Amino acid sequence: MMDSEFEQRLEPGEPETLHGISGSPGIVVGKVVVFSRQEDGLLRYRLEPGAAENEEARFMAAVARAEQVLISLRQQFEDDLADTVAIVDSHIRMVRDRLLLDQTLSLIRQKQINAEWALTRTLGIIKKKFDHIADDYIRSRFADVEYVARLIAEQLNGQGRSFPAGFAEPVIVAGEDFSPEDTIRMHTDKVLGFLTEKGGSTSHTAIVARSLGLPAVVGVRGVTSRCRTGDTVIVDGYEGRICLHPTLDQQRLYLEYDRQHRVFSDEMSWYIRLASETVDGLRVRLSANIEIPDVEAVIYYGASGIGLFRSEFGYLQGSRLPDEESLFTVYRDMAAALAPEPVTIRTLDIGGDKLSSRLPELRLSRERNPALGLRSIRFSLRERSLFETQVRALLRASLHGRLRILLPLISSLSELREARAVIESVMEQLAAEGVPFNPNTELGIMIEVPSAVVMADSLAAEADFFSIGTNDLIQYSLAIDRGNEYVASMYDPLHPAVLRMISQTIEAGHRQGIEVSLCGEMAGDVFTAPVLLGLGLDELSMRPSAIPHVKRLLRHSTFARLTVLAAKVLKCKDSSEAAALLNQYLSENYPDQFIDRDERT
Ligand code: PEP
Ligand code: MG
Repeated sequence: MMDSEFEQRLEPGEPETLHGISGSPGIVVGKVVVFSRQEDGLLRYRLEPGAAENEEARFMAAVARAEQVLISLRQQFEDDLADTVAIVDSHIRMVRDRLLLDQTLSLIRQKQINAEWALTRTLGIIKKKFDHIADDYIRSRFADVEYVARLIAEQLNGQGRSFPAGFAEPVIVAGEDFSPEDTIRMHTDKVLGFLTEKGGSTSHTAIVARSLGLPAVVGVRGVTSRCRTGDTVIVDGYEGRICLHPTLDQQRLYLEYDRQHRVFSDEMSWYIRLASETVDGLRVRLSANIEIPDVEAVIYYGASGIGLFRSEFGYLQGSRLPDEESLFTVYRDMAAALAPEPVTIRTLDIGGDKLSSRLPELRLSRERNPALGLRSIRFSLRERSLFETQVRALLRASLHGRLRILLPLISSLSELREARAVIESVMEQLAAEGVPFNPNTELGIMIEVPSAVVMADSLAAEADFFSIGTNDLIQYSLAIDRGNEYVASMYDPLHPAVLRMISQTIEAGHRQGIEVSLCGEMAGDVFTAPVLLGLGLDELSMRPSAIPHVKRLLRHSTFARLTVLAAKVLKCKDSSEAAALLNQYLSENYPDQFIDRDERT
């Protein structure tokens, strides 16, 4: 697919810089592949007399191509990923399923309709059959049929948008937007980086890209119309810009800048084994945020455990929802690998922009305003059995290390109490079954909704620890969609309201003697970390690779100086004043080591 697309490319155009938002750091130069989303652009038409035979052949050719896509996907997986391989194998069998094929072919012939239309109608017929199946598990397999039908439909349209299609050479992928699922699937050695029209720096897709170490620029308006497949592009994930049709000089300059960055990162590795404490002896835990259970990165970067495991990403992969046993194994292994350090596992935080492809299985429908909808703990409290399954797995794993449970999006005391009641009833069940667990497993809550900040005193009396989720707290307090590129410039971590909320939460937690952590993206940003450290947080949790950078800052500071800085910043009336103070602090203490950024434009 790729070769022919590259051959068709136009003559190179003039160099052009497009600005977006830094989604994930790093620089790559490469050829771009532009994906277009089909939404419901389904083509429906009646066939001309005598055209059915050709249409059937067109359909069968698409089936064969979809099968090839799956076969090449299968080859990408290692043999030790047996579960994943088994799923792909089942999709390969399904693509030739007689019901799917015969029904579609017969609709084409009898109703004289085009293949896309016939396929959609076939899917409707199959869905009705599945809806009558009593077994939940088998019923949920309809998602696989849908997936396979989508693959065929993409081949009919000649677009083959799916990432598994396999690339002939490593490429930069560009598209309107990629779901977190897409981003996870892009984690192959064939993808160099990515570009999107939509999204902000704390959209989940950007967060996943950072964890996977793929450079990304998000929110680049016009990128899919300005770039054509085959164009050469520089992705500058540090600065959030892309350079289209770069000259050789520009390519050299960017690569040199990237080299310097890497040298600097290598120097940072010196800090990995040092204690995370200030010159005057204050210790702050620097822990890791992870989405996939990759404890190697956590250990490698010297994290003091996991401050946030976004467990919902474990529900994204594979063609079915994970069961108790598989969740237990993942949680147990993480807790055991990092013991005695804490491993904080957040319960399912779905909704918002996460798990969009799982809506039917989770019995969720599209909401008009998902950020304010049935998200996170609200969903868990409605879908009790799903929640209980996760809690059972967590509690069973709690004996294998210091596992802490973290509840997302708590907005009232009653929600915390309700969740605690579910956990206690699961404890009773386990005790009755004679299954061992740690009855003192700590239960913390995310503070990411303004009402939780206001109620922090009461919440602190009943929670074992707080973790401030500034990604959402900023979104909800400033009314700025964290994934919307149009308002991304107003998404402001240094807004005085945000800083005061953080400070109030820390004080409320400390008054009740509980630990307060912060796990939003600003924890791993060396620009904002000094003020957070000065406010007295007990723990900052961030992507593992950011840990040495923040540790360096911590080790060259005194808590006394950080406290003075934070007190001054807290008094600022707007964020530009706060930014000026932080800039001054950083330039006095950590002069920039990089080449002048403007040289590259
Ligand atoms: C947050 O909201 O700050 C957070 C850490 O959670 P997430 O980014 O997964 O919503
Ligand atoms: Mg959040």
